[in-house]
Amino acid sequence: MSNGFFSVPNPVNEPVLDYRKGSPERSEVLAVYKEMYANPVTVPLYIGEEKISTEKRAKMAPPHDHQHSLGMYSLAEKIHIDKAITTALKAKNTWENMSFEHRAAIFLKAADLIAGPYRAKINAATMLAQSKNIFQAEIDAACEFADFLRFNVAFAADIYTQQPIQGNGVINRLEYRALEGFVYAVTPFNFTAIAGNLCAAPALMGNVIVWKPSDHQMFSAKVIMDIFEEAGVPPGVVNLISGDPVLISNTVLAHPNFAGLHFTGSTEVFKSLWKQIGNNLSTYQNYPRIVGETGGKDFIFAHHTADISTVVTAITRGGYEFQGQKCSAASRIYLPASIADAVISGVIENIKSFTIGSPEDMSNFITAVIHERSFDKLVRYIEQAKKDTDVEVLAGGTYDKSTGYFVNPTLLKTTNPQYTTMETELFGPVVTVYVYEDSEWDATLELVNTTSEYGLTGAIIAQDRAFIEKASGKLRHAAGNFYINDKPSGAVVGQQPFGGSRASGTNDKAGSALNLLRWVSPRLIKETLVPATDYRYPCMD
Ligand code: NAD
Repeated sequence: MSNGFFSVPNPVNEPVLDYRKGSPERSEVLAVYKEMYANPVTVPLYIGEEKISTEKRAKMAPPHDHQHSLGMYSLAEKIHIDKAITTALKAKNTWENMSFEHRAAIFLKAADLIAGPYRAKINAATMLAQSKNIFQAEIDAACEFADFLRFNVAFAADIYTQQPIQGNGVINRLEYRALEGFVYAVTPFNFTAIAGNLCAAPALMGNVIVWKPSDHQMFSAKVIMDIFEEAGVPPGVVNLISGDPVLISNTVLAHPNFAGLHFTGSTEVFKSLWKQIGNNLSTYQNYPRIVGETGGKDFIFAHHTADISTVVTAITRGGYEFQGQKCSAASRIYLPASIADAVISGVIENIKSFTIGSPEDMSNFITAVIHERSFDKLVRYIEQAKKDTDVEVLAGGTYDKSTGYFVNPTLLKTTNPQYTTMETELFGPVVTVYVYEDSEWDATLELVNTTSEYGLTGAIIAQDRAFIEKASGKLRHAAGNFYINDKPSGAVVGQQPFGGSRASGTNDKAGSALNLLRWVSPRLIKETLVPATDYRYPCMD
């Protein structure tokens, strides 16, 4: 019971630290990295108060150093999955009845732990588990994660404030209930912040969670659970279950109290989960909420009025940062003939300047791709490109998996705008360029709009305002996050709410109130102060 209408802190984006030579943050993160590298851990299942280390386990290894062991993570059996669901449901009543200011305080504390005492730990874990260089780890694991938690509190407070008008003699209240049941969070490898937020966002709104992280993010998933625990998330509110995704999903999605899926990952997996939910519909107590942010085939379209160095930088950063493993990474590029050569030679020059290797060496821009399956897939596409006559390899095209899964940043140029690498999400450091005649820009925009099944991010680069207006209209449905004179990646919470439509997902915009609205089921409460005592209308007298 709260005797006061409380306000929440005004969120501010967490400043990105520099990690320059000699800075305290650089020495600290490197020391933690070394310590984590040298001391293998076991990641248990987190079910309520229990931390269960199962007999069946799998190895965790840094992608840039795959023979090294960071330890093991536990593989759940059906009995554990059932237990996680039961435990979540047991925790539900107390959690959803906790006042908002206390739920909010828990997640605000988690944000401060991330930005403060856990910053080096969560960054180092992300460098080791997902092979992010320190800059990429910092903007993800420390800054974006803290931002999600802080901004969500402010968005939730705004949502709760939205109330119906009052009537004569009547009080109307809208109560934003948590969903009836539990939420299943299924998260990808590529962002520690997304993994944490997919649990924290529904939990903030009073929901309880069964979380299945990616096998390739387990090492940093443990740090997330440590932070949640220290911040005071009560046992049973977020339960971590790792292991066979099919067994876990089959068990979770068959449960009558399954109330929502919070998914980020590939389009294919999302579609299969949606179908499974559809098939089980008559099992459920409620219609489950389905939120999924999935793949992309993100574009940069340069107009002949574009500034050349802006295009070069957008391709270089947008295409190759984090080895092209962002859902928003630019991977299909449309260049006008008049500036194509200059742009291409600028990008090649940048690629030649990239240093590649372990994230422990902070001068490296590029590190390894996530796993052998991804490495092998990228190699297949690169080798095919070397054989195909409608494409040429302008840079890269080489790879080595002896120590880590290293794929050298690759630039392809095709004469076929429908070439497979213009359409298919590869999720690696492979960028394909298509050159169009300057005068054909309008028809080429149509190609951009229709070439891929996705609609996640895209950028146009131009100085001509009339073109910018026309292209923005023509590409209205081609991207949920649309950038003008910038790269199509690097969305910041609170500034660029993120998500796309078409095959890219349900576009519920992580990092905004729109996402939080999916995790509530409002109850309208009407209270009549002096109730009617006669059924007859006045006109009947
Ligand atoms: P993925 O689809 O392989 O895995 C995502 C999650 O689904 C993991 O937890 C995985 O274990 C689980 N999973 C895999 N197979 C499953 C199955 N059969 N049943 C149930 N669960 C299953 O994706 P990934 O490789 O971890 O991440 C990369 C993908 O995520 C890319 O397609 C990328 O575009 C997308 N992504 C999208 C966004 C976005 O906001 N749109 C953000 C990040 C990543």
